Amino acid sequence: MNLELKNVTLRYDSLNALDNLSGTIENWKSIVIIGPSGGGKSTLLRVLAGLESPQTGSVRIGTHQLKFEEEWLREYRKKIGVVFQAYNLFPHWTAYQNICIPLEKVHKLSAKESKRRADQLLLRFGLIEHAMKLPAQLSGGQQQRIAIARAMAIEPEYLLLDEPTSALDPQLTYEVLDMIQELRESDTNLILVTHEMAFAEKAADQILFIREGKLHEKGTPEEIFHHPQTIEMKEFLSIGK
Ligand code: ADP
Repeated sequence: MNLELKNVTLRYDSLNALDNLSGTIENWKSIVIIGPSGGGKSTLLRVLAGLESPQTGSVRIGTHQLKFEEEWLREYRKKIGVVFQAYNLFPHWTAYQNICIPLEKVHKLSAKESKRRADQLLLRFGLIEHAMKLPAQLSGGQQQRIAIARAMAIEPEYLLLDEPTSALDPQLTYEVLDMIQELRESDTNLILVTHEMAFAEKAADQILFIREGKLHEKGTPEEIFHHPQTIEMKEFLSIGK
């Protein structure tokens, strides 16, 4: 899959969250976005998810030339899996209902097909024993894994994850990263924003370093982590150590 960003600018009042950001990434399966806090990583992910529209610029991802019009975006969003920092499960629905109800109501799948997909994912990720529990009865890690299963249930063209482990303690972080790693190994296309540098190095085939609303540096994990080109990239990596 290719990603092509051309002069993407997204302003909040006078602040350019994305500032004339450009870059092309070809033949990726797994992109990891890193960079300092406030640099525009989440904003870029929300643009790719069709949840925010830049004022100027163009975005092409896979076969989609994004059209920043609500009707078009509504259809586009149905093809994309998105997982946020905090799990966003509906609190009054069981894990099972959190997966099945959107499949039936939004994606118009039959109850039988929704159940089949939910069962398959819950089994695959060792979550079946939690199917009938409410989110409040699950750990943060389990909730986040249910949220990932829900995103996968729509059989998305790609999965976008915005710091999916930032609200979790280290043990729970590990189980969520393990699930993402399995998805990556089973050929799910994914774009992930994370502060977990060790995981970024392991899971990415392309790393984007976003800083001050721009794509500051990009490359393979080997290039970025072992041969960084810019002072800013070197500084960012040394702070993380
Ligand atoms: P990162 O994900 O790299 O931490 P963000 O994309 O969240 O960065 O934010 C980029 C900049 O845009 C920050 O300065 C942030 O405060 C600002 N920002 C993000 N979302 C909004 C919003 N909804 N309204 C106003 N400013 C925002």
